[in-house]
Amino acid sequence: MRAFTVVALLCLSMIPTLSCPLEKEMSLQTTASNALPWMNSTSEKVVKELVATYGDEQRRRAERGLHQVSEFWRPEDGNAAAFEEFATTNFAGNPATLNTMFNRFQALIEQLNGHMHEINREFRQQADLDAGPILPFDEIFAGYDPRAHVIDDFFNNKLAFVVLLNFPLTTLQERLTEGPKWTRRQWAETRVAEMFSKRVPASVNLEVARAGSEADSYIAQYNIWMHHVVDQNGQRLFPPKLRLLSHWNLRDEIKADYADAQHGLAKQQAIQQVMDRIITQTIPQVVVNNPNVGWNPWTNEVKAAGEKDSDIPPPANLPVTNTPEPCTRYAMLSLTYKAEKKVDPYSPTAPTLLARRFDEDREIPEQRVRAMLEQVVTSPLVPQVAKLIQARLGRPLEPFDIWYDGFRARGAYTEAQLDAIVAKKYPTAEAYRKDIPNILEKLGFTPEKAQYLADHIAVDAARGSGHAMGAAMRGEKAHLRTRVEPTGMNYKGFNIAVHEMGHNIEQTFSLNEVEYLLSGVPNTAFTEALAMVLQGHDLEVLGLARPTAQSEALKTLNDFWNTYEISGVALVDMAVWHWMYDHPEHTPQQLRDATIVIAKDIWNKYYAPVFGKRDIVLLAIYSHMIDSVLYLPDYPIGHLIGFQIEEQMKKAGAIGPEFERMAKMGDVTPDLWMINATGKPVGADALLEATKQALAKVERH
Ligand SMILES: [Zn+2]
Repeated sequence: MRAFTVVALLCLSMIPTLSCPLEKEMSLQTTASNALPWMNSTSEKVVKELVATYGDEQRRRAERGLHQVSEFWRPEDGNAAAFEEFATTNFAGNPATLNTMFNRFQALIEQLNGHMHEINREFRQQADLDAGPILPFDEIFAGYDPRAHVIDDFFNNKLAFVVLLNFPLTTLQERLTEGPKWTRRQWAETRVAEMFSKRVPASVNLEVARAGSEADSYIAQYNIWMHHVVDQNGQRLFPPKLRLLSHWNLRDEIKADYADAQHGLAKQQAIQQVMDRIITQTIPQVVVNNPNVGWNPWTNEVKAAGEKDSDIPPPANLPVTNTPEPCTRYAMLSLTYKAEKKVDPYSPTAPTLLARRFDEDREIPEQRVRAMLEQVVTSPLVPQVAKLIQARLGRPLEPFDIWYDGFRARGAYTEAQLDAIVAKKYPTAEAYRKDIPNILEKLGFTPEKAQYLADHIAVDAARGSGHAMGAAMRGEKAHLRTRVEPTGMNYKGFNIAVHEMGHNIEQTFSLNEVEYLLSGVPNTAFTEALAMVLQGHDLEVLGLARPTAQSEALKTLNDFWNTYEISGVALVDMAVWHWMYDHPEHTPQQLRDATIVIAKDIWNKYYAPVFGKRDIVLLAIYSHMIDSVLYLPDYPIGHLIGFQIEEQMKKAGAIGPEFERMAKMGDVTPDLWMINATGKPVGADALLEATKQALAKVERH
């Protein structure tokens, strides 16, 4: 529990963007650099008073508390006399009062957060569940977030200042070096203070939200109409109506094309060429999201479409020429950077977006994340796995083979057979719910634990593909949402249900068995890793054969190759943000040029030696770079964490008890969590060791 804006929907594609409603702008705003003239002398005076009242042993706490309050106090909060009165009245100067204060804040924050979460869940019901048509007002309910103003309210009524006066704000460095020695109570005190570690004016939040939603809608409409893309000989490669969203669909088409022995390679080469044009922004403006023009991405020649496969009208006022897109991709990123930079002065313990993402959200220092990613991309296993891929493909590697998708074992059952088995077993969501205790026992939970968990999980039929929505107060149920077709659940729905149930189990243990302020996991990668472990055992739950050693080895190689690819992507994302902070006055064109240099550099360093081709820009294609900034490093970290957890469960020989033991650690730093779980901090060793063994197995085969 670190914020009132906890998004309880898991599974990344499901996370909705929180809207930031218009707020009345504050008339007066102070920043750290614009401190009030009376603040220092008044603070010193109050410390003296507090020490006189409570004794010298309270001096350090008093000094720290007053400093923390002074960093956020604005003129409209009151003058020197009001500040003095506030501090002398609200300082908990003895352990008994501090204890009462802590316990009451913990209990009341749970009430507030828990009930607001329930309101939010109910308001979203029509949008999230398979419950008939969505009327226009349902969307307004779904978009309303009762938590949106809580932080502002708590600063205005001064409860936030009570927290800052009494509980310590810490830096990541302190949490890393001191944290292992802290009691659970000390950890919880740190977490409650963190809830109020920034006081961002409404106007700045609004600017961040606006930049975010502009970037979202730019990315959401960035389609390429593939039937109109021709190869070097002017031939069409793709079927009519195929519209691919950048980058997800483009990348997934490359993956799918490995199965097309006849035209796959040509299609993959064309998509690489398209990606190149998007990254370098040499793509003609008129081909973006427009089925009315034909395009040769090699020569960049554009003409009216020779065939019609869509009724979408051509864009107005855009002549059919190859005038390039005017650097919009980088203008969007630059806009987000400029908005985030305005948050910096209001976030004293994490004064850059890089610090907020690494020190606050992930709680792993950036240098350590970089070192882990570099350990993966420089691993001697990379050329060995690359050699294996080359042998399986029967041709030299091409740059787009970073998305090689051929490490797939053929299962013992076809998808249709699995669908039939699942539909018979689970005709409704209710049938799945009833079977939860039985499923959990198969996964190694004791009958008592299985029943306890089943009692804490509600199952709903989802409108979309599925998600897990935890509770935010003890006693409330976690919700498992999965899709059930009229003919019953299919295998895909079941596979997702098992994954989401993994989230629900984590949520149930880490809420009900943990101090409220420490509920949850260190970051989303942890709950994803736990959910993945359960998902990987879905066939056993159905009473079918376990995956063979060979198919598990192939899966490991697939995960390793994905981690190698996405590590480079994450390194590009991180380097681009450093460049922006180093060049705050940049233009979109300069940002484009810098991104190209960075992407080529990282390619040349870690990929060119394996692929034998230099100066490739593909690592900069991910849309997350534009619309979910600095999120990409979570993917490789998630893979590393997943392997560590999996290895521990294999070692322990059972999933159930290990799952419970790990989830009960709560929201401490990732390293502390992982040391408790596996004996080692977060790192790449488990992945690399598993890959080494998998490589030996596959090569022997
Ligand atoms: Zn998930």
